[in-house]
Amino acid sequence: MTSTPDPAVERLPERAAVVDLEAIRHNVRVVRTVAEPARVMAVVKADAYGHGAVPVARAALEAGAAWLGVAHIGEALTLRAAGIDAPTLAWLHTPDSNFSAAVGAGVDLGCSGWELGRIVDAAREQQRPARVHLKIDTGLGRNGVTPDRWEAVLDEATDYQDQGLLRVVGVFSHLAVADEPDRPETDVQLDVFRDAVALAEDAGCDLEVRHIANSPAIFSRPDTHFDLVRAGISIYGLSPFPDQSSSDLGLRPAMTLRTLVSQCKRVPAGQGVSYGLTYRTPGESALGLIPLGYADGVPRTSNGGPVRIGDRTYRVVGRVAMDQLVVDLGPDADVEALAGGEAVLFGTGDDGGPTADDWARAAGTINYEIVTRISPRVPRIHIDSAQHESETGFAPGAVATVAGGPA
Ligand SMILES: *Cc1c(COP(=O)(O)O)cnc(C)c1O
Repeated sequence: MTSTPDPAVERLPERAAVVDLEAIRHNVRVVRTVAEPARVMAVVKADAYGHGAVPVARAALEAGAAWLGVAHIGEALTLRAAGIDAPTLAWLHTPDSNFSAAVGAGVDLGCSGWELGRIVDAAREQQRPARVHLKIDTGLGRNGVTPDRWEAVLDEATDYQDQGLLRVVGVFSHLAVADEPDRPETDVQLDVFRDAVALAEDAGCDLEVRHIANSPAIFSRPDTHFDLVRAGISIYGLSPFPDQSSSDLGLRPAMTLRTLVSQCKRVPAGQGVSYGLTYRTPGESALGLIPLGYADGVPRTSNGGPVRIGDRTYRVVGRVAMDQLVVDLGPDADVEALAGGEAVLFGTGDDGGPTADDWARAAGTINYEIVTRISPRVPRIHIDSAQHESETGFAPGAVATVAGGPA
């Protein structure tokens, strides 16, 4: 404990996803260095992959991100409502999306063709030209104009541009296999992308930005950087590659998921654990009860996920329940010492501690899903290790603000 004046931040909540904003800044600086001279769009969709969109966006901008990126217009409006006026792109829409609010708030719109009519209606309503990034589907098969329709969409868009209703300021696309740098499809996607950019420029689009790179492409394919790179998972300090860790890439995981051990008790050999009794203690042992479960975002389908208590890492045994999970502490555990102690499911990975990568392996998924699905029941606590150089780890003395969830 330190002498933080605000008693509200003296202690962490009993369950918390602690997010170090200095780690976000560090990661943005790493991405900037790798991407130079291209600029960086910090992708803060899905509440910044579960890290808290507004504080993360501010930290990313402080560290030199030039743009913000989100999926939904509503996510962009949340940033604007918080007073963040950096260039912001939203790229995933439906006929019910509020294009008018986006144009009014100066949010750039990704456009896959079908939205053009609605975007110009919004521009007329707001009496302000919309800023549009046309998306070409270079092979991912999701959003975007297919190459055979590209020239028709360019005709329509430049028509509206001539009427002063919109400006095509960007052309972009998204890569399918950049996390497997040797696959040939990325080259094919790049060829289609270059052609689409050239056609747009020939058609009279005065492009500010051409962008296609996501985190894996930023690190593995410099030929994808163009004017702007869209960095998501990497700014949270996680690796987009199955065979490279955060530290291999110079990144620092920003989120630590922690709570306190709820109960520790000695049990006999053969003690069944959790629903279905899928685990029984092989001999006399001790069990630790951890008050985090699938309602908090810990995957029920995970197997043997790690939990750090003190300086040891234990494994989850039995099924993860809605609110809790159990670790086998072994026969020699000092149950009095462990009870009530801090339990970390994942964090920075320093000193061999568990990581979101470990949980991804245990759950048969990717680190993106582990951090993004931590539920709103877990308060996000933002700390800034840069303001407390003398602090180590997540001592509650670091400047903390509670976002969402009950504190
Ligand atoms: C989510 C997303 C990104 C970020 O991808 P990362 O692999 O997390 O860097 C970039 N571009 C688009 C279009 C996205 O949807």
